[in-house]
Parts: sequence; structure tokens; C-alpha cells
Amino acid sequence: MARIVMKFGGTSMAGIERIRNVANRVKQEVEAGNQVAVVVSAMAGETDRLVNFCREASSLYDPREYDVVVASGEQVTSGLLAIVLQGMGVPARSWLGWQLPIHTNDAHASARIGTIDTDRLDAALASGEVAVIPGFQGVTDDNRVTTLGRGGSDTSAVAVAAAMKADRCDIYTDVDGVYTTDPRIVPRARKLGRVTYEEMLELASVGAKVLQTRSVGLAMKERVRVRVLSSFDDTRDDEGHRGTLIVGEDEIEESRMERQLITGIAHDKNEAKITLVSVPDRPGAVATIFSPLADANINVDMIVQNVALDGKSTDVTFTVPKAELARSLDVLEKSRPTIGHERVISDTAITKVSVVGVGMRSHAGVAAEMFKSLADRGINIQAITTSEIKVSVLISEEYTELAVRVLHSAYGLDAEEPAE
Ligand code: ADP
Ligand code: ASP
Ligand code: MG
Repeated sequence: MARIVMKFGGTSMAGIERIRNVANRVKQEVEAGNQVAVVVSAMAGETDRLVNFCREASSLYDPREYDVVVASGEQVTSGLLAIVLQGMGVPARSWLGWQLPIHTNDAHASARIGTIDTDRLDAALASGEVAVIPGFQGVTDDNRVTTLGRGGSDTSAVAVAAAMKADRCDIYTDVDGVYTTDPRIVPRARKLGRVTYEEMLELASVGAKVLQTRSVGLAMKERVRVRVLSSFDDTRDDEGHRGTLIVGEDEIEESRMERQLITGIAHDKNEAKITLVSVPDRPGAVATIFSPLADANINVDMIVQNVALDGKSTDVTFTVPKAELARSLDVLEKSRPTIGHERVISDTAITKVSVVGVGMRSHAGVAAEMFKSLADRGINIQAITTSEIKVSVLISEEYTELAVRVLHSAYGLDAEEPAE
């Protein structure tokens, strides 16, 4: 007998027919003698719909009430799955975030999970009942409903798996694993049998939305065995495995690490570029820009500071999340007397494209290859950042698909046959 968590995303839960498909998969695991907790997303499109209602109701909505509204999508699917399971003769009940409870901090709309009480969950599982847990939601110490940020059901699933010491956490989605890049953009993307926590963390953080970044960080910290697989397709690879396993680096053979320089490519259209023109070039100037942004809890990602050709002033360019652009411009305008810049230019038609791979640690020339491949296609690079296992560039949004395809080929990642 194993203890498992099965998580189903929005596409898998979209409508009663698909919920029946999910219930059949859950039933199979129960019949195989496993104890099963299921974490579910809202139906595809539902969270967007609920977010829009909040925006329509007021542009300055109370985040605590926003959470009450957007958490409801998962309440619906958890109840529906429990009903369908019961109809199939599988004992099941739903456990809402506040019922378990899943304790979070009070950072509404992007709350972090603290602890999960497992007493009632353990008792339910021991009695042979399937526990259906709505993802994405939790509760604060003063009993307010919270949500974990978009895509947060992955994090709920990993947190539940860690708390109940599950043998594995299966993330069922609408693709059959993690690919070398988004298979919807590059049909020749290849499925990865295994990917390390570290690589997955980088890939997710630079835009591979197949897993929420925080879920990967948590899985790495708690050593949860995560597998990504399809709700719709049972194809197995040559070794009889389904999906992609997220594993420790020690579990990937030396040979593969030696061979594979780049694991994957991701892109992110959720950033906006800001340029401050003519910032006085003196010690402390950069601090006057980024301190007020940090105080406003705005995450700055890429930064480029040009040299002051006239010895007096320089331009500073950086990126912030698109959703924070208006607030960032407001903060910068208020700080203009201390920063001393001439004017601000912003641009939302940009994309960050990143290549990720642990092989980069031991190989030079990855960045140079990237710059050359993009230059050959006439794609201009507006900013660059690197980490030990990642190189990211900022380009004009119109070249996104082209850039991803070109880099995918340049690093030899294309599969021989395009996936259907
Ligand atoms: P769910 O609703 O199941 O949580 P998501 O839409 O959040 O599903 O994530 C799955 C999607 O992630 C896929 O449909 C795919 O388009 C996208 N994706 C982006 N990058 C990758 C990648 N490297 N491998 C697989 N899927 C990816
Ligand atoms: N329903 C939430 C969202 O769309 C959480 C999730 O599906 O992971 O962001
Ligand atoms: Mg998701």
C-alpha cells in the first residue's frame, strides 16, 4: 500500500464528463490498495472569470474578499468530484482549506502555506475514504480564506504530499510531462523522462507554467517525489514509464549530465520594461531607484545600467511584473526628486526567453551560442541576466515564437518527429 496525492488541473476538471474521467483514475488507485488524497483545480477558465468579476466590482478591491471569491472555483470541483466518486461506490469527502485546515500567512492573493493539520486527513485515509482537497486555498490564523497565487494548486498538492508523508505526488495535466519547451509552441519539443528539482525550479521561474514555481521549491525542500503526467493520455515510454519525474541530481546518471548541455527553454510574457532616462551618475543612485520599489514589494528582475558617456548621467533599464507596472511608475514618479531622472519610458510588448541546464556549469559558450542564434535571425537583445544554470534575454514580444524555435534547434533539442 502506498500513500499518494493525485492533483488534477483545470482542463482535467472542466465539466462532469472530465470529472468522471478523473474519478475513474482515482478509483484505479484506490482499487490498487492505495490511500489517496486528491487535490483539484477549478474548471479551466473559471478562476479568470472570478478574477474579472472582482476587477469589475472595483479596481481597488479588498484582497481578502478577492480570495473569498476566487477560492470558490475549487470548492465547486472538490464537491463535484466527491459526488461522482460516491456515485461509483468509492467513499469520498471534500475537505476545504479551512476544514483541514491548511494554515497560511495573511498575504492575500499570494499566501504561503505554513502548516497543514493532518489528524483528520490521516483518520479519513485510514478509514479507506478518499480525501478531496480543493487546491489554491487556505486559511489565516484569524479565519480568513486565502489563495496561493495563480497556478497555486500545484503548491497545495505538494504541501499536502509533504504533510501526509506521501510516497508520491502525481500532477495530472493536459500534457504528458515536462518538455524541452512548451509543446504548444514547438511541436518538435521532446518529453523529458526525468528533470532535476533545480532545473525544474529555474524552468518554472522563467515561465514554464506546467508547474507553479513555489511547488517545485517546496518539493525540493521536502524531497517530495513529483511526477507530471497526462489526465487524457496513458502512453508509456520505452522503459514503461509515464510522464516526467522530478528528481534529485544524484538520480540522473552521469552520462546524461555530460551529454545534455541545455535541458529546456522557456519564455515569459508577464514582464514589463522600464527605462529611467538620464539618472545622475553618482554613488547611491541605483539605490534611490530600487529601494522604494522594494519597499512597495515590487520584484525587479532584469537590470541594465549603461555607462555614463558624458560622465554625468546614465540610463537605467529594468523589468517588473506587468501587473505591477502602474504601481511601479507611480512609485518612481513619487521618488523622482531623490532619483533625479529626466523621464521614464515603459514597454509591455516584451518577452523574456531563457535557456536552462545544469550542463552549463561545466561548459562555456552557452550564452554566446544564444546571442549568435538570435542575431542571425535579426532579433535584438534588450537585456541579459544569467545564473549558474540559466541565461535569459529580453526581446521584443513579436519574436517570441521565432526565438524559442530557433534556440530549440540551435541547442539540438528538436525531436526527429513532431508530437501530434
Ligand atoms: P493545469 O491546468 O493542469 O495546472 P497548466 O495550464 O497550468 O495546467 O500547465 C500545463 C501547460 O503548461 C501545458 O498545456 C503547456 O502548454 C504549458 N507548458 C509550458 N512549458 C511547458 C513545458 N516545458 N513542458 C510542458 N508543458 C509546458
Ligand atoms: N485555479 C487556480 C488558477 O487558475 C489555481 C490552479 O489551477 O492551480 O490559478
Ligand atoms: Mg497549472
